[in-house]
Amino acid sequence: MQEFIYYNKDGIDFPLPETILVTQSLTDIPQNEYIVSNTKGTQAELVADEIDFYIKNSQDSLASKIKNVEKLYEINATKFDFARDMLFKEEVNNTVLLICDNEQKSEVLRSMVPDEFDLFHVTEDIVKDLEGQIGNFTATVADGEKDVDLNISQVIWYNQKDIACKYSGIFDPVEEGLDDVLAQIRTNISNFEYRKVIAYDSSICQYHERREEVCGRCEGVCPTNAITKIDEVKHLEFSHVDCTNCGECFSVCPSGSLEYTPQGKESIYNVSTFYKDTHPLVVPSKMNLKSLEIEVKENVLPFVLDTALFLDESSLLTITQMSGSQVVIYNDYFSDSIKNSIQIINDVYQAKYKKDAILTASTEDELKEKLEEVSFIENSYVNYNQQGQRKREVFASRLEKLVGDQDYGTVKTGEVVHYGKVKINEANCTLCLSCVGACNVNALVANAEDNTLRLNSSICTACGYCESSCPEADCLTIERDVIELKPTWFKEEVLAQDTLFACVECGKEFATTKAVEKIANMMGPIFASNPVKQRTLYCCEDCKAKLMIKQGLLNA
Ligand code: SF4
Ligand code: SF4
Repeated sequence: MQEFIYYNKDGIDFPLPETILVTQSLTDIPQNEYIVSNTKGTQAELVADEIDFYIKNSQDSLASKIKNVEKLYEINATKFDFARDMLFKEEVNNTVLLICDNEQKSEVLRSMVPDEFDLFHVTEDIVKDLEGQIGNFTATVADGEKDVDLNISQVIWYNQKDIACKYSGIFDPVEEGLDDVLAQIRTNISNFEYRKVIAYDSSICQYHERREEVCGRCEGVCPTNAITKIDEVKHLEFSHVDCTNCGECFSVCPSGSLEYTPQGKESIYNVSTFYKDTHPLVVPSKMNLKSLEIEVKENVLPFVLDTALFLDESSLLTITQMSGSQVVIYNDYFSDSIKNSIQIINDVYQAKYKKDAILTASTEDELKEKLEEVSFIENSYVNYNQQGQRKREVFASRLEKLVGDQDYGTVKTGEVVHYGKVKINEANCTLCLSCVGACNVNALVANAEDNTLRLNSSICTACGYCESSCPEADCLTIERDVIELKPTWFKEEVLAQDTLFACVECGKEFATTKAVEKIANMMGPIFASNPVKQRTLYCCEDCKAKLMIKQGLLNA
């Protein structure tokens, strides 16, 4: 089956490999379903605008162009293979609520086909509540003394309140234009589809079922109702229908509990393998590459994403190391978390290679400048199989390879992306292991062989749950927002160690010496008048019970 198609009515002035069907006409092509096309005019799973952009603007030699055009098709096919997003359809009937004054209502009636919608009209002052989702909203409106619930599928709301922006299916003609709003409503009625782009792993989430709130950043950055915290049970709830695919929650998630299904870790890695010895130009599809009139120097190859805002320090380092080059990112908006991630990687690269890894451009002029500047970074290429690793592990493994056996000092990690180092005051630590139980990313672990408490700093998210779980005073603290660029950062480090205490009755080891001593110090004075009770403080559970029973019998 032919998977790739290239269409240009003027043809192309260099040959393309046989894997790509080249055509100057869309009327006489085989009616295949293609995987990748350079144009919307064919039945293709993916339309790759960057192909035309590259052909038109690249200064690569002819031989490189032929190779790279084929690569761009392969890259998109790989993206398609690794996408895990699912398409859903929602039933949307033609009930529409109109919230506006009478003049605006007349404007709507003039613009729509008579009776095309089952229309309800209310003025904003009587709307008391609006909840639900597209296809299934309930509006509570005041009707004289009583409240009435209206069930509607979509809402047109002139000068809508902020709350409305949080839902799909609520449209503001003042913002979007009435004709566009009506067109969108009609499209939704016949065919409302949405994608599930969030995959969630609650087992490493720093909010899920914790006694107190140490995370919840994804909800904080979500501009809609797509993520909600249920604080009573500490569960996250996802409304995929309200997700606008902005990508911010993924980059802000410290643990990697959230993954962007259209282009997850595996996709980024596998796509990145095509960028060795190129300068990746990372660009979200909304930036409309095709329309750019810009000279692109040799070896620059577009790396198109649905949205760039899901990128985090792990994915950025993957792209950078897999190319062995500086990377240019062209986007009109950079969220705080992506800025933070870029800063971390640039600081790391400055420490080792004395140059930035990532160059950003928000305007066409900046893009021209950065494309001139972009260069390879000698000895920075790193490839390894990162399959199955979590986000923090990918970053740690890649960073470890960059650091090698050298010490490049420390980098700060800023306001949004947090790394940290757990510190233990060993004198006060009883090795109760509450902190190990609290840590769900396995940064803190207990080693039963040598009775040690160990830390792998490189995967700690600095969430602070271990800090608040530690029962001892002046014992566990976290030095926040630091990454040490030296080999020990990536190795398990012993934070505390103890010996096991043997029961004075049976000799079985049952607790750490410090834990036994702590309890004995606390309870000793209380049991001072009773030597048997005092002895129980140094016994295992079984012997403790036996001794108490024996004492009870003797006393009887
Ligand atoms: S940002 Fe990540 S770790 Fe934090 S609450 Fe959201 S999913 Fe959980
Ligand atoms: S070591 Fe502590 S701060 Fe770090 S991830 Fe584990 S529980 Fe959170």
